[in-house]
Amino acid sequence: MPYTTLLFDLDHTLIDGHASEAAAFDYTLTRAGAQDPSDYLAPYREINSELWAAVERGEITPNDLRSERFAQLIAATDLEADPDTMGDDYVHGMGANGDLYPGTIETLDALADIADLALVTNGIGDVQRARIARLGLDKYFDVIVISGEVGVAKPGPEIFDLTFEALGQPDKGTTLMIGDSLSSDMAGGIAYGIATCWYAAHSTGMTVVPVDHTITELDELLPIVSGA
Ligand SMILES: [Mg+2]
Repeated sequence: MPYTTLLFDLDHTLIDGHASEAAAFDYTLTRAGAQDPSDYLAPYREINSELWAAVERGEITPNDLRSERFAQLIAATDLEADPDTMGDDYVHGMGANGDLYPGTIETLDALADIADLALVTNGIGDVQRARIARLGLDKYFDVIVISGEVGVAKPGPEIFDLTFEALGQPDKGTTLMIGDSLSSDMAGGIAYGIATCWYAAHSTGMTVVPVDHTITELDELLPIVSGA
């Protein structure tokens, strides 16, 4: 069997992150008094992606961006609201919304029979814990590592060190990192010396990152992992 340990990303790999982000944003902006939340979506997306890039560079932690993204949105627009309240509302909305992609549970069920599974996610602890519990993901994963809880994030090696330690130091040669992000999941896995599988269902274009496998449906993992 080529792979006995699987490290999974969460957002946009198992969870439909776009749907939960849209619902959480709508909830947060409505409570902040916005007439039309969609007016604020473009500036928010730009601010948010800049801040997550800073997390990947190790300059800030996910906890830092919880309120900061809304402080920057308020500064850049006519919104008059409290950034901490908006940060809390968004965390609540993200935890309460979002579904797994179709077929995710069936695939995790089959994979958990033949491999050890870990969840390794760049995110805020409160958000991810609420979603993991609501979606019943706990039972499939031997180890769950959330960057907001441990203070280090993908693609850096420290979060992989923590994961390997929690898993009991599995063989790097039979470990596979699965995720949608080339900059955090794939680059992080390659730098750590493990195999990588890019989940490209929601991406456009080709990757220049040298991944080992590319899939567009999660159930394509089954033959890759079992070596069938
Ligand atoms: Mg992701």
